[in-house]
Amino acid sequence: MRLVLLGPPGAGKGTQADRIIKRYNIVKLSTGDMLRAEVAAKSPLGQKVEDVLARGELVSDATLIEMISNRIDQADCKNGFALDGFPRTTPQAEALDEMLAQRGLKLDAVVSLVVDENALLARIETRAQENAGAVRADDNAEALKKRLEVYRNQTLPLIEFYSKNGKLKSVDGMASIDDVSASIYAILDAVQE
Ligand code: AMP
Repeated sequence: MRLVLLGPPGAGKGTQADRIIKRYNIVKLSTGDMLRAEVAAKSPLGQKVEDVLARGELVSDATLIEMISNRIDQADCKNGFALDGFPRTTPQAEALDEMLAQRGLKLDAVVSLVVDENALLARIETRAQENAGAVRADDNAEALKKRLEVYRNQTLPLIEFYSKNGKLKSVDGMASIDDVSASIYAILDAVQE
């Protein structure tokens, strides 16, 4: 099972990815988590991208494409993966198709979490409170505004990209966490056959 989770910041991609990977015995590939780990480790890449992340802007396509291309070759990805936060731009989506095709693989589904934008700020504020002590540098009003703007301009075109190739499945992301999971499982169970 190989899938992409699409949706704006705060839509619940990470929460749903954590559940999906348990059910389908696959791994979660969260590019945000991977980049934050680089920042925490103060690696050369981490030092390079720290300010970009804090501002809510995007790291370069080349960096992300290389990161994912290396990651999917690791042994734990053999049974599949849920991509959370990648692709985020059309060039990344095209590169993903290409890297999968080169390996004789394909995406089984692209799940789009559809949410009301007004609810996002509240959700992210809740996340910041729940994680008190480990607050994300980009979970503040200014960076969130930027992240939403970047989502609209750079990532929203992927909805069109994936609906054209017939992979897109939309789910009501405003439902309860359990209901969203149930809708996603129904979609993934059906494509797994
Ligand atoms: P996330 O945890 O998915 O919200 O990602 C946090 C931040 O990491 C984003 O605001 C970007 O700065 C960076 N990032 C994560 N994934 C990507 C990506 N696919 N392309 C570019 N930047 C990314």
